[in-house]
Amino acid sequence: MSLRNFLSVILAISTIAIADGATAATEIKSVNPSGEPPLTPEQSAQAIKELRAKKLELPIENFDITRVKGSFYETHGGVMHGAADMLAPRNTPVHAVENGRISKLFNSKRGGLTVYEADPSGRFVYYYAHLEKYADNIHDGDAVKKGEVIGYVGTSGNAPPNTPHLHFSIGLGDATKKWWVTSSVDPYEVFK
Ligand SMILES: [Zn+2]
Repeated sequence: MSLRNFLSVILAISTIAIADGATAATEIKSVNPSGEPPLTPEQSAQAIKELRAKKLELPIENFDITRVKGSFYETHGGVMHGAADMLAPRNTPVHAVENGRISKLFNSKRGGLTVYEADPSGRFVYYYAHLEKYADNIHDGDAVKKGEVIGYVGTSGNAPPNTPHLHFSIGLGDATKKWWVTSSVDPYEVFK
């Protein structure tokens, strides 16, 4: 755990302690960043099996996936990270992991420039955040091909300015109507 993460955990613990003195200091909200509860172990196992069968392409070419082992379970600001932070130099191309459709290009305070991509079944959402910029030719609703460059690694949103990385998550939900509401699957388990 980095110092920054450690401090945000302490902050979350103190906030809970102030709000309710009787609550144990160990109470960390174990939910996905979107607010959905984590999947049960059975649901996760099933989703990971389906995702592995898709033979997804890595969003960053030749990325060593062992580097994100455990990233999913870190606690950021009292909330389960639910994603993989893939460190790469600024402007490294980010590739669509599967054929799909852009549900939304969204600029958020925390995620910065983000892409929500729906898989062909509409059940999985691939989320790419902290982009430096989008690829020139992508828009909401566009079909994208597996391996197509959709953007470039950066530090937009709340990423540390000196740590360009891709925040990548795989969510299970309704990818076409409510792309922002998902329960996440550990990308490490999918790609390892
Ligand atoms: Zn992240």
